Amino acid sequence: MQKKSNTIAKIGFIILVFSSLVSCESPVKKMTSTQNIEQKVDSLLALMTLEEKIGQMSQVRHFSDINKNSDIASKFIGSVIHTDGPAPGEGAKGWQEKFIALQKQALSTRLGIPLLIAVDAVHGQNTFDGATIFPHNIGMGATHNEHLVEEAAVITALEAQATGFNWVFSPCVAIPYSEKWGRVYEAFSESTELTAKLTKASVKGHQGKLAEPTTVMATAKHFIGDGATDYGKEGGNTTLELQELSDRLLPPYKTAVAQGIGAVMASFNTLSGKAMHAHKALITDTLKKAMQFDGIVVSDWKGYSRFGKTAVVNAGVDMLMTVDGDLDLFQSEMKTAIDSGIVSIERINDAVKRILRQKFRLGLFTHPFPKASLISKIGSKTHRDVARQAVRESLVLLKNDHTLPLAKDTPTIVVVGEHANNTGLQSGGWTLRWQGVQESYKGATTILQGIQNASKGTVLYDKNASEKHSNADVAIVVVGETPYAEFFGDIGDGSGTYQLTLSQKHQDYIDAYKKLGVKVVTVLVSGRPLVVTEQITKSDAFVAAWLLGSEGNGVADVLFGDFDFTGKLPHSWPKSVDDFTGKYGPNFWDTSIQPLYPLGYGLTLKK
Ligand code: BGC
Repeated sequence: MQKKSNTIAKIGFIILVFSSLVSCESPVKKMTSTQNIEQKVDSLLALMTLEEKIGQMSQVRHFSDINKNSDIASKFIGSVIHTDGPAPGEGAKGWQEKFIALQKQALSTRLGIPLLIAVDAVHGQNTFDGATIFPHNIGMGATHNEHLVEEAAVITALEAQATGFNWVFSPCVAIPYSEKWGRVYEAFSESTELTAKLTKASVKGHQGKLAEPTTVMATAKHFIGDGATDYGKEGGNTTLELQELSDRLLPPYKTAVAQGIGAVMASFNTLSGKAMHAHKALITDTLKKAMQFDGIVVSDWKGYSRFGKTAVVNAGVDMLMTVDGDLDLFQSEMKTAIDSGIVSIERINDAVKRILRQKFRLGLFTHPFPKASLISKIGSKTHRDVARQAVRESLVLLKNDHTLPLAKDTPTIVVVGEHANNTGLQSGGWTLRWQGVQESYKGATTILQGIQNASKGTVLYDKNASEKHSNADVAIVVVGETPYAEFFGDIGDGSGTYQLTLSQKHQDYIDAYKKLGVKVVTVLVSGRPLVVTEQITKSDAFVAAWLLGSEGNGVADVLFGDFDFTGKLPHSWPKSVDDFTGKYGPNFWDTSIQPLYPLGYGLTLKK
């Protein structure tokens, strides 16, 4: 059967090549000049061999899954991903050159189908040193400001294009059920309504009119139940009734689909024991059929070998992250599976159609290369000003005992803590590296620098609260979590690196200045609400600052009262570690648990 369709494909191709030679036009260009996208997709699909189709379904890492650039052509690769690992080149020009070279390989194949080039740009183009980095989604959730989320996505898309990408794996539209999950910060909120509202803005901002050279395809992830696993375990089991899944977790996906999202990523978790990657009822019947999603379902990392191989494709996954050794395995096993009828050619055709459709929608056949003129916009003042606004609107004032705003002419301010003077620490995971960095990066401003710029008095810095400046009028104590990303950031039973509470060292910073009788303003840098009930009591003012990204000066903007606090909690705030012993969910759906502050809480300077 497959051999037959290959023969037809070859004859069609010969005719096309012949007629295009006469008119001196490339086969695909000639074929596509007068048709609408669906016709173009069908025409192109009819020309493809099985190898070319399986190739389109393969996504590889540019630096490790292929031995040489020509593998892109010889294996008919459909997409390339950049995530953690060596930078593609020196500076943005080098990055563009790397991806242009790969794109040229794809275009050199007989059908010249361009590559989708993807990146984990989840809070700005965060893989590039010098890009504008926004607060992580939890902070964007605290702004409750859809216009700002849209603007941030427009900028992220532009900086992603400027570094060579046309696809981002964002936004994460999870509804986190437990602070123990190490990815709480990647999601906007525990509120389904707020998440749906900001998802719409994010998709709109990233994709714009899609075919423009400044926009990228967006991805809603991770479908579905990623944030609702039992006890917040990454990739664990989600035990939810389908009704709750439908009411609480599905609405942001519905919004994303209505907004024309190009891709949805399958999740690592199981749902009542069944791997989501192999969940046909949800991926095919619900997402694709009932919700009419016509874009690409992409697997997560090594989705092919981890979750039942062909079962994943049969469930409806269209493109596979065939990384870390999966590429050849996938390509050869798929051929056998199709030949033996385990996977139908109709399923393959559906997958390839979805991939081609998005490539046409993105305009990749007409403008496959990034624009050099965008490079100068990376990390521009205009972009950074929006990120700074996002920082100040994301800060949530939890307590203020007549301490804020600080007068600019306060004679002596001491700023305490390593998080105050380190842009890596203030930015969290998925910043330059997968697990984040613990040192400052290019173009970013620390919280300390922002305070120094705003103050008209003396600003001292006491990294470890060891200098004990008892003469200071106020201590701004910046404490929090060190960067982490998926798996590593899970809290589990609390015996690992991360805790529901502040580290003892950071608790001591607050205590040290409290004991000296200096007023303490605590700024908490964290990817999730932590149990800090005691530290809030000890502080004169307490600010939740989340993971703020590159513009640390946004903190001084509100501490000194140039702008009022407008941020409101995107999560209810836990009171006690004991709250986590049983089931724990959005809005504390276990109503026997009373949060310290409810969802939506946040003071202003006026009250
Ligand atoms: C994560 C995704 C990410 C992908 C590619 C996975 O481990 O779960 O969120 O997009 O890696 O880096």
